Amino acid sequence: MTMTTAEWICTRCGSTNRILVPDGATRAADECLTCHTRHALEVDARPVRWRATSQAKAWARHGTVLKDSVSPSPPFRVGT
Ligand SMILES: [Zn+2]
Repeated sequence: MTMTTAEWICTRCGSTNRILVPDGATRAADECLTCHTRHALEVDARPVRWRATSQAKAWARHGTVLKDSVSPSPPFRVGT
């Protein structure tokens, strides 16, 4: 299978990332090498430069849910 290089710009830190995708692919997902933000990638008019959509929001929401599900620590009564 022929692979082609998709280039995308991180929406968070602006870094240029590259990922190998199968020739003819229109979608991919990758993680920024610099800030590790997940992005959904979609082929654009220019096949080399892909459109990146940050998935950080979904992750943040997930993180919030996780945080909310953890009950706050009970106030510690430090024995004196
Ligand atoms: Zn980044």
